[in-house]
Amino acid sequence: MTTLSIPLPPGLRRASSWRRWSLWILLGVLVVALLVTLVYLAARYEASVAQANVERDVADALSDMRSALTRNVQELQALQSGHPSRETWRAHADTLLRQHREWVRLEWRGPGLELLAEVDSPFRTPVFERLGRANSLPEIQQACTTARRLSSHAYARSHFVPQADGLGLELMELCLPQVDVGRLTGFVVATYSLTDLLATQVGPQMGRSQEISFTEADGTRLAMHGLARRGLRVFSAQQLLDLPGNTMVLRMDSWRRSEPDLFPNVLTALVTVMSIALVTVLFMLGHDTRRRLRVEQDLADALAFRKAMEDSLVTGLRARDLQGRTTYVNPAFCQMVGFSAEELLGQGNPAPYWPPERAEEYGKRQAVRLTGGNRPPREGFESVFMRKDGTRFPVLIIEAPLINAQGLQTGWMSAVLDISEQRRVEELSRASHERLQATARLATVGEMASLLSHELNQPLAAIASYANGSINLLQHTPAPAPDLQVAMRRIAEQADRAGRVIKSVHDFVRRRDQAREAVTAQGLLDAILPLVNLQARKLGVRVESRLPDGLPRVLCDRTMVEQVLLNLARNAMQAMDEAHVAQPELVIQVRATAATEAGRRWLEFSVADCGPGIAEEVKQQLFTPFFTTKAEGMGLGLSLCRTVVEQHGGQLVFEPNQPQGTIFRFTLPAQMA
Ligand code: ADP
Repeated sequence: MTTLSIPLPPGLRRASSWRRWSLWILLGVLVVALLVTLVYLAARYEASVAQANVERDVADALSDMRSALTRNVQELQALQSGHPSRETWRAHADTLLRQHREWVRLEWRGPGLELLAEVDSPFRTPVFERLGRANSLPEIQQACTTARRLSSHAYARSHFVPQADGLGLELMELCLPQVDVGRLTGFVVATYSLTDLLATQVGPQMGRSQEISFTEADGTRLAMHGLARRGLRVFSAQQLLDLPGNTMVLRMDSWRRSEPDLFPNVLTALVTVMSIALVTVLFMLGHDTRRRLRVEQDLADALAFRKAMEDSLVTGLRARDLQGRTTYVNPAFCQMVGFSAEELLGQGNPAPYWPPERAEEYGKRQAVRLTGGNRPPREGFESVFMRKDGTRFPVLIIEAPLINAQGLQTGWMSAVLDISEQRRVEELSRASHERLQATARLATVGEMASLLSHELNQPLAAIASYANGSINLLQHTPAPAPDLQVAMRRIAEQADRAGRVIKSVHDFVRRRDQAREAVTAQGLLDAILPLVNLQARKLGVRVESRLPDGLPRVLCDRTMVEQVLLNLARNAMQAMDEAHVAQPELVIQVRATAATEAGRRWLEFSVADCGPGIAEEVKQQLFTPFFTTKAEGMGLGLSLCRTVVEQHGGQLVFEPNQPQGTIFRFTLPAQMA
């Protein structure tokens, strides 16, 4: 099936391609925005996960720290059980210090905070060796006062103790009161190194990229553990460690790995890969669209070219599917049949341009064609179509199967040629050929007539001279029969008349020089009346000629016009004779017409009879050479008459006579006054 889509005008095409591109651009922008959002969200998610991890870690660290401190308090209490001597206390304390690296020193003090015994951590040089313990006394007093008040262990605010190596230690004093039966007996003071506290309690679980520190509420860092390799992003979390007598903030900083990571986690990597894939697909789609647009453009150009070609064709084109429905017609076909494309498309059988009387025949022919019964002849076949106004016209149809892109036949394509003009030309050439033949026959007839007249002249002259001789002889005869003399004179007269007739025929046939001369109408009639009368008498026809006076002369080739009059008169008489008219009458009339605008005048001759008139079917062919209804007729008379009259610029017409018969009229130019 071929359907023609009408190509868009260039303006619209540009607009639609622009719209398509703008859609693509919009899609691209949206996809990029979506991808950026996705990557951003993925990164944020990742950050939130990292943040949550740090928070969890700091919470874990805090709870570890608390339980460790509690455990430490219990161990310190155990140190004092059973009223130990100073030596045992020291030994016990030394053992404890070896187990707890976070302690830098353990002291046993009396109720008045006087030092009873002390042991320094074996892991470092004694902390207070250089500056003395006195500097820390306020903290010890603070812790022990609080402890006494609480009747439980208490901590002091941390304090910094510079060391010999130029660094220093942030220390925190823990004071544990010793109560014996409601009476305060002394204190155990443990000095914590905050850095070591962090290292021992939290350090083992910490990752390499984490840093844990104690800070004050205002953010001042007191001690820290673990130096992370600094990365680009830091995640921080802090928890409050409130101890009796002291409150600190435990803070954890976690860094992303120091080397910048392109794909920090699977999700981001996945999203990135998908984004790249999406952008690639988008790019490929764009490329494809560009190619498609180009192809579309080419196709539209090809279509426009095809349409221009079809529109310029004078050959009608028609496509039909395998069901016989019209699927395509070109403008030339529409013009040919007079139906619009809308009226034709989709029409099945019978097609609107089939003449109804042939519809059945065409339907059968088409059915055979559709079943693959007969291949249409390559040179085409002739048929008859009908225009919308009902007129029929011959066409030449050349059909070919319509094959689609898959190589399947989908219908038939026909080229239709209107051959009525061709037919008209053929008819014309046939007619002119016939006329040529007729002329050839006429020439032969003319030659024969010429020969006959020549041959008959001799015997006629002989008859005349014999008749005249016989009259002379009779004059010298003593008593001749008077009738015999009359008869002889008649023979001589008729022979002479016959000679004149033959001469006039001879002259006509030879087409004597067409010299026009000015003749009176009377002169013309006088020349033919003897011959007319000859036949009229034989057939019993009354001949009447009516000529008004004062007619102008007529300019004509005299002999030929005489032949015209003679022919018309003869036809009239023969018609009346054949019809056995009771009172046959022949009226020859001449009248002058009024002057035309150009000042010309015409003489109109009419030959009227009261015969049978002319039958309708005869009228059509009356002037055709060799058309006759008579057994011995030649059928040349009227055709010759018309030629002669028309050569003079006149017209030969006929009309019915009243009450019956026919009038032939012809006009000849009058001589200018
Ligand atoms: P022909 O006389 O040899 O038949 P024409 O050309 O003179 O040839 O006439 C052609 C035909 O026209 C005649 O055969 C006759 O049928 C018809 N015809 C001519 N004149 C008359 C007439 N006056 N009345 C009736 N029919 C006529």
